[in-house]
Amino acid sequence: MNPYKKTITSCPTCGSDAPGYSHEDQGGMYLTIDCGRHGIFREKVENDPDFFKKAYEYEGYRKMSYLILPVTYRCNLSCRYCYAHANYKHAIPADRSIDHLIRLIREVDCPTVNLSGGEPTVREDLAQLIRMAKEVAGIRRLCVVTNAQRTADFGYLRSLKESGLDFLFMPMSIAGYEQNVRVRRNMAQSLQNSLDLKLPIWIQATIDSLDQLTPAIELIQQYRKIIFNITIRVAKSFGIVPATNQFFVSDVLRHLGKENDYYMGNHPFNRHIRLLGKSTKVSSWVNDRKMVDPYDALYVLSDDSITPFHKGMLIEDLFFKTNKSNC
Ligand code: SF4
Repeated sequence: MNPYKKTITSCPTCGSDAPGYSHEDQGGMYLTIDCGRHGIFREKVENDPDFFKKAYEYEGYRKMSYLILPVTYRCNLSCRYCYAHANYKHAIPADRSIDHLIRLIREVDCPTVNLSGGEPTVREDLAQLIRMAKEVAGIRRLCVVTNAQRTADFGYLRSLKESGLDFLFMPMSIAGYEQNVRVRRNMAQSLQNSLDLKLPIWIQATIDSLDQLTPAIELIQQYRKIIFNITIRVAKSFGIVPATNQFFVSDVLRHLGKENDYYMGNHPFNRHIRLLGKSTKVSSWVNDRKMVDPYDALYVLSDDSITPFHKGMLIEDLFFKTNKSNC
């Protein structure tokens, strides 16, 4: 088999850097990972080889200037595809203090900071943290990544906005809670509260079926006044539950009728489109570090080290599962 490109990957068992290569086979693109300790892993990364190669060979990518900072590892939900491992039964690290978080923000010096988790709103001092990040650390754009449960309380969301919150990053649907009336009602109420407060929303959907795009589009239509950005993410097998279906970025674009109407994303494994007039990223994760590392958002690991976002998710996954620090 002829390799298409050699690269650096992360071993899915230990997280160490491992050589890898992409290659075309059986009408798709695959990535092979060769870990000296744990052997060979192979995964499909695209159905459409030409689509994959076109982005791989593009040279105009720009670095993302986002810092993703987990402010807690606790959560009030337990989603099917938790990228933050909040539904693990393993011991999770304690919350960092506000002073500690402000120090981390200052060290990295990114203009946009996303306070993530776990679920940031389980911290009772979140409004104070937002105020300190804006006033003391001088963050220009501050976002809270939330599951939109606590923000259904209008007074609470208003207090976050008054503290300096610039926008929310929230889901359109939550895998595992599709039939849960309370969770859905809270999400709808959070959208309505944001509309009433004129608080911008970056909305995201992690999908494991193309059918989920239709209700997502209906929701965007309904709240288009406050939604300024959209992310559609193909579910990947992080955390405890494997993704139920295998499809890729090219499949989402084709489903949306955008297969000839996209522009390059911020690295080869996503694309940008206009959906209902909104800037929309269609993304997936490919364990190709050489192509992701220079461009991906930065992520603060539980031991305070900083790494590209997607690698960080994998490393934390392994760390929490095994409670080892040598990954
Ligand atoms: S994805 Fe977010 S909301 Fe869901 S369990 Fe994980 S941290 Fe909580």
